[in-house]
Amino acid sequence: MTLDQIAAAPAAGLPETALPTLRDAVAGLPAYIPGRRGAGADIAALASNESHYDPLPAAVAAVAHAAGTMNRYPDSAAVELRERLARHLGVTAGEVAVGPGSVGVLQQIITGLCDTGDEVVFAWRSFEAYPILVELAGARPVRVPLDHLEGHDLDAMAAAVTDRTKVVLLCTPNNPTGVPIGHERVEAFLQAVPSSVLVVIDEAYVEYAEACSGPDSLALYRRFPNVCILRTFSKAYGLAGLRVGYAVAAPAIAEGLRRTALPFAVSALAQKAAIASLEAGEEMEARVSLVRRERGRMAAELEAQGWKLQPSQGNFLWIRADEDLRDRLVEAFDAAGILVRAYQGDGVRITVADPASNDRVLRLLAAHAA
Ligand code: PMP
Repeated sequence: MTLDQIAAAPAAGLPETALPTLRDAVAGLPAYIPGRRGAGADIAALASNESHYDPLPAAVAAVAHAAGTMNRYPDSAAVELRERLARHLGVTAGEVAVGPGSVGVLQQIITGLCDTGDEVVFAWRSFEAYPILVELAGARPVRVPLDHLEGHDLDAMAAAVTDRTKVVLLCTPNNPTGVPIGHERVEAFLQAVPSSVLVVIDEAYVEYAEACSGPDSLALYRRFPNVCILRTFSKAYGLAGLRVGYAVAAPAIAEGLRRTALPFAVSALAQKAAIASLEAGEEMEARVSLVRRERGRMAAELEAQGWKLQPSQGNFLWIRADEDLRDRLVEAFDAAGILVRAYQGDGVRITVADPASNDRVLRLLAAHAA
């Protein structure tokens, strides 16, 4: 049959099996539920752990300056940004890979290391993108329940490692519970798991953590070449909308991540803004310390109201809640125009923001305390 004859054939004659189908892994994917968005003077957007500050002025100026170049592709190898990050972290540019948000880099990590049926171990609850990225890669998510203090159960996680495990994800401070993993515990974990397993330390919120509350990940990386550090400009640096994150890993792994990257995934604007933001580190620190102060104030007041919270080291607070309490809180927050993140069966996560929004949260929770 010629193409003309095929085109002239009645469409009804086509067998139904000719329809394109998604891979089973895609059809079965849990949908990623993004933090709810809202606009308006009375809406407090506390569902996505974003920075409530405007971007750093130096980043805005860098983007404005770079805007005139957007007819050009960006530097796909992100050489300047990687060199700047390398200097900042005390590693070489060969050990750095950047991507469209740290979630983009994480996708490169998982697709780069996992074949179909390989396992990725992570704590649960943790960042919702983890199981989605793992299943999309055709790998198997292995969820290890958090311990009773809302932290990683590293003994159970080490016990969950099998010869199919390619990657372990440690999230510190953990999203959504805010609980960090102490340095010695990560160190002992690294001693316990085979060196062929890549241990990703996801530090999306590390800037908000008090010194020494979590692991010294760079020191661990220097001792254990199977460590991969994952960080982002989305949170404390305030560049969530520009999409830029990075990994630090052994040169062969970092090189592999660069090879699996979607070409030109990190725009020139994002690269320039990230470089400018690194230069403005002190300004970022000043903002972060205000968030920490607010976090402490809220935690103390909530405790006084009767809530039992684990101390959070992120820019958010976690309220564990059964279904009934969760539904009541969601309804009350919705009615008050406060967008928070609710997790079925587990609880509610509230981003720490400006004092006025935080006061609204405190007033609302006072009415629901035990
Ligand atoms: N890791 C964790 C733990 C997160 O919470 C998030 C964002 N919510 C990310 C990674 C991804 O952030 P981004 O892709 O914006 O860098």
